[in-house]
Amino acid sequence: MTSFYPGPSQLYPQIADFLQEAYASGILSRNHRSKEFIAMNQQTVALTKAKLHIPNNYALVYASSATECWEIIGQAYLELCSIHLFNGAFGEKWYQYRRNISANALPMPFSIQKMPSLNALKRLAIRPEVICLTQNETSNATQLKNRWLRKVRAQFPDSLVCVDATSSMGGIALDWLAADVWFASVQKCFGMPSGMALMVCSPRAIALAEQLAHRTHHNSLLHILEKARDGQTTHTPSILHIFLLGKLMETLPDIQTIQRTLKERRRTWEYFLRKNRYELLVHNKAVRSDTVLAIKTTPEKVHRIREKAEQADFLLGKGYGAWKENTVRIANFPAIPAERIAALQHVLASEA
Ligand SMILES: *Cc1c(COP(=O)(O)O)cnc(C)c1O
Repeated sequence: MTSFYPGPSQLYPQIADFLQEAYASGILSRNHRSKEFIAMNQQTVALTKAKLHIPNNYALVYASSATECWEIIGQAYLELCSIHLFNGAFGEKWYQYRRNISANALPMPFSIQKMPSLNALKRLAIRPEVICLTQNETSNATQLKNRWLRKVRAQFPDSLVCVDATSSMGGIALDWLAADVWFASVQKCFGMPSGMALMVCSPRAIALAEQLAHRTHHNSLLHILEKARDGQTTHTPSILHIFLLGKLMETLPDIQTIQRTLKERRRTWEYFLRKNRYELLVHNKAVRSDTVLAIKTTPEKVHRIREKAEQADFLLGKGYGAWKENTVRIANFPAIPAERIAALQHVLASEA
């Protein structure tokens, strides 16, 4: 079975060997305060930062899921007013998580066919102290491009910009300097098993967390950052995930190379779908995702397409949230072998 589900998704094939290697190395039986673990962890962090071009003065730390990152950010910057720009289910969920712990959260929904309006954000009576964005909205296959994110940074230089990049980090070259907190779980674009998330924090995000000094929760960002400085974690982490991430980063090409391949594949997909008269959910090319495609059709046809793919041993994504019934989602993640894409297209060609 080849999975084109946008999370959990197809694993990189080399994961199979890395799992064996992790067992054989003995690292999984080591204490997480041991010098062996610390060295392995520091190596993983260094390799990940290098491969993804994360600036040296940004911190890279772990959490267990993107959902936990929503919570961690909400707690770390508890008293600050957060504005949530969203056009889909994941951005909205983030808003709701924040809303559950603070009244200082404001929703700003926008259309899936357009870029969100920065003027509307400027016209708000309150100052957005924290701006929460979903770089790649997995539920509807839209994205906010680096260029737009840089605009946010330039027009709101005092705001803390936090970005959910769950279904794009590891596939797209993100412009780290354009935001302060970036996060992603690894079961999407990283092609890894579920159960881990990465958080990337700017010096400003770190300084602000120190200033507000929230440390009462087990997953306090401040506490996580402090431990990470010594190559450690607050609690026993998934040593297996850290090992797998390190190995993967050793073998994968640079993020610029991965991105080039992905964008090329996206163009091929879009050409294929147009030629075969499939309709995309997102009409505006400027906001369409590079890493997730969404085909819009009738509920009957959704069922038929997914069933047919499954008979040929392909798993396609269901719709999600408001688009649950009338879309098929297809992951364009880097772990999917090129030859499987061609094979899936062969199956889908005869449907349309
Ligand atoms: C999948 C996803 C999440 C949730 O990820 P978990 O690891 O299940 O918490 C959050 N945001 C986006 C954009 C996602 O695609």
